[in-house]
Amino acid sequence: MRAVSRVAAPIPLADVRLPPEAVAAATSVLEGGWLSSGRKVEEFEGLFAAYVGARHAIACSSGTGALQLAFAALGLRPGDEVVLPSLTFVAVANAAIAAGAVPVLADVVGADDLTLDPDSVARLIGPRTRVVSTMDYGGRPCSPEVCDVARSEGVAVVEDAAHAPGARLADGRRCGTLGDLSCFSFFANKNLALGEGGMVTTDEEQLARAVRRLRSHGQTSTTWERHTGKATTYDIERTGFNFRFDELRAAMGSVLVPGLDDAIERRGRAVERYRQGVAALERVELPFSGRDPGERPAHHLAAVVLDPEVDRDRVAGHLRARGIQTSVHYVPIHRMSAHRDRAADVSITDDLAERLLTLPLYPHLEPEQVDTVLDALGDALSTS
Ligand SMILES: *Cc1c(COP(=O)(O)O)cnc(C)c1O
Repeated sequence: MRAVSRVAAPIPLADVRLPPEAVAAATSVLEGGWLSSGRKVEEFEGLFAAYVGARHAIACSSGTGALQLAFAALGLRPGDEVVLPSLTFVAVANAAIAAGAVPVLADVVGADDLTLDPDSVARLIGPRTRVVSTMDYGGRPCSPEVCDVARSEGVAVVEDAAHAPGARLADGRRCGTLGDLSCFSFFANKNLALGEGGMVTTDEEQLARAVRRLRSHGQTSTTWERHTGKATTYDIERTGFNFRFDELRAAMGSVLVPGLDDAIERRGRAVERYRQGVAALERVELPFSGRDPGERPAHHLAAVVLDPEVDRDRVAGHLRARGIQTSVHYVPIHRMSAHRDRAADVSITDDLAERLLTLPLYPHLEPEQVDTVLDALGDALSTS
């Protein structure tokens, strides 16, 4: 076999290293003969539910599929409104539309807190609002106040926890339990990276059962149950999707879950070094300095906020020239052509849109590499 050179920058934005045990687990599935959902998926669901502290976990094919399943399980109907942040990945808005609903775009708290603002949510909740979809930005738990605002109006909460497996509030409540349903992603650059995949967690039996059925067309029994003789036929009481997960990635996921806490700790050390370094620089801040120190973030992203007059593209270009990859989380949803005309309350998001820059972060990012990024950032800021 020919050695393939890595295409990534010397310091990429994210980097995945699968432990040999995960590769071995995948190999044993390949040798076992059953590749779709089965015992390995059930095992992974059990481990994941215990890890986030939810009663039920249902694995599916992507984080976007998880959001679609959550909206479908809540029975959204055409014309229903889903309030969600504009400063997030577009998946949630697209998933709401796929459910027949209308996204309504809310604002974030400010430059130091990039999660959904409870006041903005309160302003946008109206007679047609059925769901508030909150997001744990960069692995920081959403504000529990947002959930309180929604519930006081009789509105369900869907937590987009794609960034946040393992995160918890200072009072101990964990991401994955903050919504009526919570959705995770195992996309290739997420904290638990399996290439593709997702998970819905919930404490409510009824919702769990609905998600489980909707995941596979609405079938009343699973292929695995029929394969193992527990069922012989099925009915469709309500139509669903094919968002099933598979044994291969489930087996890898079960190996990775026990290592998540250690990975978060290592990510956290890199973020702490970024925090100290950024504090010594002018014209840039690392958000979430005002959060309760008892909180444990999942440290998915190292996003910084530049002063308004800084030219972000020049800063990113300067870092790129030094082999450092950056990104932007996110181009706000209301700036996408397909979502431009939606109802929105986004003045703070608009102010931040050109100021956000995400720096490299992964568990094995070395202190010297963090310093290299900080040096390059300092140089870029003194000339941009
Ligand atoms: C990645 C991501 C998603 C979508 O997950 P996929 O697995 O890529 O479908 C949704 N929301 C947020 C915040 C994400 O980061």
